[in-house]
Amino acid sequence: MAVQPTGKITASAFDQIDPPDAELQLDCVHCGFCLPTCPTYLVLGNEMDSPRGRIYLIRAASEGKIGISDNFVRHMNLCLLCRACETACPSGVKFGFLMESARGQIERHYQYSAADRRFKHLILRTFTDPRRLRAVTGLLSFYQRSGLQKLVRASGTLRLFGRLGKMEALLPAIPDKRRRKDLPEVVPAKGEKRGRVGLLVGCVQRFFFADVNSATARVLSENGYDVVVPRDQGCCGSLLVHEGEREQAKALARRTIDVFERAHVDLVVVNAAGCGSVMKEYWELLHTEPAYAQRAETFSKKVRDVSQLLAQAPLNGRLRALKRVVTYHDACHLAHGQKVRQEPRTILKAIPGLQFVELRESDDCCGSAGIYNLLYPELARQFLDRKIERIKETGAEVVVSGNPGCSLQIEKGLKERGLNVRVVHPVELLDWSYHGTEG
Ligand code: SF4
Ligand code: SF4
Repeated sequence: MAVQPTGKITASAFDQIDPPDAELQLDCVHCGFCLPTCPTYLVLGNEMDSPRGRIYLIRAASEGKIGISDNFVRHMNLCLLCRACETACPSGVKFGFLMESARGQIERHYQYSAADRRFKHLILRTFTDPRRLRAVTGLLSFYQRSGLQKLVRASGTLRLFGRLGKMEALLPAIPDKRRRKDLPEVVPAKGEKRGRVGLLVGCVQRFFFADVNSATARVLSENGYDVVVPRDQGCCGSLLVHEGEREQAKALARRTIDVFERAHVDLVVVNAAGCGSVMKEYWELLHTEPAYAQRAETFSKKVRDVSQLLAQAPLNGRLRALKRVVTYHDACHLAHGQKVRQEPRTILKAIPGLQFVELRESDDCCGSAGIYNLLYPELARQFLDRKIERIKETGAEVVVSGNPGCSLQIEKGLKERGLNVRVVHPVELLDWSYHGTEG
């Protein structure tokens, strides 16, 4: 054990702003069933890098037996927040809530190095602000289209840029300006109307994977939904929740609730697993705020991953054959966070001609995990390598993923190995099938 409680009970190491819930900590009965499912425990072999060990540390800090030391912070931050432990846990321990709260405490009470703080600040402020991200995307698009990217990559100078250089390696082909254009505010339903839904366009999804949002709107419209895309929506705050910046995340959550309430929609549809998972848990994030607690609960109940909505009834319209071998990667925040596993498979299997091959260990983390792959690239690399090996075994031409972070990470791994495998979202495949052409 890297950290031993002293046995001396003093004041808690945590303050009273969203401390890790004491009752949730006591739900853990130390059975260890979660250990074989925890990626960091399997790689590092240290109890303190397992769910059980981390809960032990959180409890020790709650009781004032240990402080928020370098060791404590390291064990907390090495967690992927993949929530595989929640799936395995027979006692129903809400590990995600405990870890998110613990990280909130770390954010307030721990002094990161100036370099770490600057890097996190840069990433979080860029990726959670659509206006900034729009400007950055324009520059990146120029960088790729002008041929500068090829030159820079060939020159090897990216190595000199440390973590920023590693980020560059994750860059997908940025869609051109025409494809990055905002969706109309309303995309009307075709045929018999099934409902009116709001669409969260996200941040990374909106600019790096604009085609996924267009495909989502088209497929929902094809299936009888009016799709409302509020212009004033912003970031949902999911990255901030995972990184412990809870106050900023709460502000974005409140804004998201306001925006979709004004849109008067039956449901709020999300096509990014990380965003959906956090939005389904706004009730927890905002439970101490009298003006929002009830509204957050109502809002969370309305959130659906797009696959949930599409799988609940037979698909409308004519689907054309797609003769492709396809496999599916379960994004952690869809499989473990939202317990959505069958729905994406159901809609993929509805596509005629498509040969679906199951991926071994499909719900193991790919190492993306928010910004984990930028903060802990060596560890993230091990998880990615294993994922790519499993994908290779399937012989698939297409890997399907319901989360933009996973798509970026897996695409990078495939490219590095020279594998000619595309990574797409389930709704893109459906959209191709509706239109009889591949995007
Ligand atoms: S969330 Fe994932 S990495 Fe963290 S303790 Fe649970 S299984 Fe391990
Ligand atoms: S499986 Fe659940 S109860 Fe058992 S050690 Fe892990 S977190 Fe605790």
